[in-house]
Amino acid sequence: MTLNLKDKIKSQLPKAALNALELCSKTADDNGFKIYLIGGVVRDLLLEKKIIDIDVTVEGNATEFCHTLSDKKICKILQVQNELKTVKALFKNDIAIDFASTRQEFYPKRGHLPVIARIGCTLEEDVLRRDFTINALAISLNEKDFGTVIDYVGGVEDIKNKILKVLHDNSFNEDPSRIIRGLKFAARFNFHRDEYTKELQEKYINTQLHDDISWTRIKSELKQTFSMNDAKVYDMFLINDTYKLVYGEKPPVKGLEIKTLVDKYSPDYVWLVYLGTVLNKPEIIEAFCLTRPEKKIFTDKNTLLKGDLNLKSTNYEIYKFFEKKSIEAVLIYYLLTKRKEPLVYLEKLMNIRVELKGEELMELGITEGKLIGKMLDEILKRKLAGTIITKADEINFVKSETK
Ligand code: ATP
Repeated sequence: MTLNLKDKIKSQLPKAALNALELCSKTADDNGFKIYLIGGVVRDLLLEKKIIDIDVTVEGNATEFCHTLSDKKICKILQVQNELKTVKALFKNDIAIDFASTRQEFYPKRGHLPVIARIGCTLEEDVLRRDFTINALAISLNEKDFGTVIDYVGGVEDIKNKILKVLHDNSFNEDPSRIIRGLKFAARFNFHRDEYTKELQEKYINTQLHDDISWTRIKSELKQTFSMNDAKVYDMFLINDTYKLVYGEKPPVKGLEIKTLVDKYSPDYVWLVYLGTVLNKPEIIEAFCLTRPEKKIFTDKNTLLKGDLNLKSTNYEIYKFFEKKSIEAVLIYYLLTKRKEPLVYLEKLMNIRVELKGEELMELGITEGKLIGKMLDEILKRKLAGTIITKADEINFVKSETK
């Protein structure tokens, strides 16, 4: 039976987006193009989720189609990717739509980025290169069958049954980042992998050598997945052995512990608090091409774990131990060691500062650079111990020391 989602398209898409699609539809018909909504947008329409990105596939050449649209002043072309023949176009009321040409890909080396085999293949060939059946659905946008779902792989049924299923045996070998994508979708929609997909995933993780793969893709998927700040995702990541994909070590940590800390301390790099509890291998950290502050989290984590923090440390020693370390690293240290000091630091000590400035100390009679540093440190010690609180206390202390 044909399934038509015209009504869902009308009710779930913003009016301006619907207008844009109707103009595309008319232009496609007038100029002999076949165009489809594709991938995530179709899945999300069926699941009645909020539509964020609108992806359209043109059976043939998307660049030609978009030029036809822009010649008719229907859209402005923002960006063209010549090799893939994809286009980002802007319609009235700021509606952006990504257009792709149908394409077939092949993987010259297992786990590496794919190479385009052919642009302008059939829709069926295009959907068969995709990750999961739920992401391999299309909806026709041409006028005669506007809204009709095209399902070559049983994706509609899988969405109904909340199942994540890859399209072929070689799926994870081609692109292991799909394992992380699976985790992301499973958590987001509360879906489960079918037995076949589970087996393929286990086989890949436990038997395949996977050191020579596209780490950028894996990183990007991990980033998206752990940025969700979802405790369940992390637990699944450990239970399903997915952490082995990054040669991680299984820590005695629960997702909820991480989520609670993240919610309380709002670190900038949420995803790295999750991943940092698992990821240790320097080669992989390097392969992720992290930014400088992201790399610092791992350097700080190692310094902290190798550091020697006495069980009877004073507040001052605790402060000095964690001072200048990224908050993410302090959280990871806590999660891995369960010591109380990182929490003492975060809750009580981290924001304690000496208020007096060097110049003010000079005015109070301390002129030598070395002595200024020493005095500031003495004040800090006392502030951390709670014997000096206000700026007036600081001044009084300096005066008493310089009498
Ligand atoms: P999201 O809501 O997270 O954006 P999405 O399904 O739209 O989900 P994208 O990463 O934008 O995800 O990808 C768009 C489509 O491209 C997917 O629906 C899927 O069909 C295909 N796709 C993306 N990544 C892969 C991959 N690694 N392997 C195969 N197909 C992929």
